[in-house]
Amino acid sequence: MKVLKFGGTSVGTAQRIKNVAGLVTAESGNLVVLSAMSGTTNQLLEIYDYVAKSNPTGASETLARLGSKYADVINELFPADSQWRSAAVKEVDSAIATIKAEIASPSGEQTEKNIVSYGELISTSLMLNYILSIGKNARMVPALDYMVIDEAGEPVANEIARRLASLMEKVGEADVYITQGFICRNTEGRIDNLKRGGSDYTASLVGAALGADEIQIWTDIDGMHNNDPRFVEKTAPVRNLHFEEAAELAYFGAKILHPTCILPAKLANIPVRLLNTMEPTAEGTLINNATPDHTIKAVAAKDNITAIKIKSSRMLLAYGFLSRVFEVFERYHTSIDMVVTSEVGVSVTIDNEQHLPEILAELKKLGTITVDSDMVIICVVGDLEWNNRGFEAAVVNALKDIPVRMISYGGSNYNISLLVRKSDKIKALSLLSEFLFN
Ligand code: ADP
Ligand code: ASP
Ligand code: MG
Repeated sequence: MKVLKFGGTSVGTAQRIKNVAGLVTAESGNLVVLSAMSGTTNQLLEIYDYVAKSNPTGASETLARLGSKYADVINELFPADSQWRSAAVKEVDSAIATIKAEIASPSGEQTEKNIVSYGELISTSLMLNYILSIGKNARMVPALDYMVIDEAGEPVANEIARRLASLMEKVGEADVYITQGFICRNTEGRIDNLKRGGSDYTASLVGAALGADEIQIWTDIDGMHNNDPRFVEKTAPVRNLHFEEAAELAYFGAKILHPTCILPAKLANIPVRLLNTMEPTAEGTLINNATPDHTIKAVAAKDNITAIKIKSSRMLLAYGFLSRVFEVFERYHTSIDMVVTSEVGVSVTIDNEQHLPEILAELKKLGTITVDSDMVIICVVGDLEWNNRGFEAAVVNALKDIPVRMISYGGSNYNISLLVRKSDKIKALSLLSEFLFN
């Protein structure tokens, strides 16, 4: 069995839903993970935003626009007298009624999570009914019945596997199985989600849980490119990536993959293939355990980084200093991305400023603090095993005209990270493409 995940653009119009239905029924017995139709998650979040700002009229107007969009899609998918059309209309109407009830009596963040879940609940319902309408046997495997997270918001792999196995048995034989990406239940049994872009994570978790032969992430581009195509011209697809390389790229900003979605596939050693829905025969990118090949593969950038330097003369010959620094971040549940140390101080980066004031107050007890906000981590990924000579030099040389605040190398065999100003991000990415790939 394969797990095939289709992102928002891939199911963004009625025509694209029809195309995906064709793709996923070409082979029998696979499981399909769907995102919300493109734009709808943002619209649902906009509805909640109005609710939170006590503007129910704004919320209702956005909901009306969304409702009419779904009505148009249904009109294009099904003929007027189709039973599958009636089923789809019924589900969309019931979703809209529930969202209206949430708008009328909201209950904080839970309302946001409930409302946003309808993006995936509706896209999967439309796909299911459309596939049934073309005479194929499709079955729904509801994510809310098996995708569970713990108190820290992390998926609980063994429980997911247990529930999914029993659900699949209950659902029985089918041409294609359909499930929602992104949505899940928390420890209280309430609706929650795996954060923005989380459908990739669903696909990987489901693939691992079912011991799939392959996990396919279908999107709007022909695989992982060697640089971010949103900012750099002349990027090219990378044909093969090691799990570790893909994980670093995803974590450090390659939007094509959710930051943590490679891990479950890597642990279960299931190959991940990135494919293009708009060009289904294109080769894409294969991510697996392949031996590293002594090349630099790609560059990515992670935004909204804050660098904190803690300088202390007492670090000289003092053990325990680093541990005291890290404890502060641990206490405030703030993870550190980059670390560099010298004899007199340490610099770290974080991507979450939620507890910054408290963290800084505590760090001040340990030394002199300097903070740089609006920074970007530029991450260069490839086979950077230390005996492969010249790669660090090439990277540093490419950025010789850009102020670099931190450099981190040797933490893994797969990455060099450099911290630069946000205003230098595009220039840094472009220079790296020019020097490393063109
Ligand atoms: P989906 O909605 O299918 O999940 P996303 O928008 O999340 O799609 O991811 C695909 C997008 O990721 C591409 O359109 C591209 O703009 C962006 N992207 C960023 N970095 C890369 C990269 N290195 N390679 C390919 N795409 C990238
Ligand atoms: N629909 C969700 C989002 O827009 C999840 C996803 O597309 O992966 O973030
Ligand atoms: Mg995505």
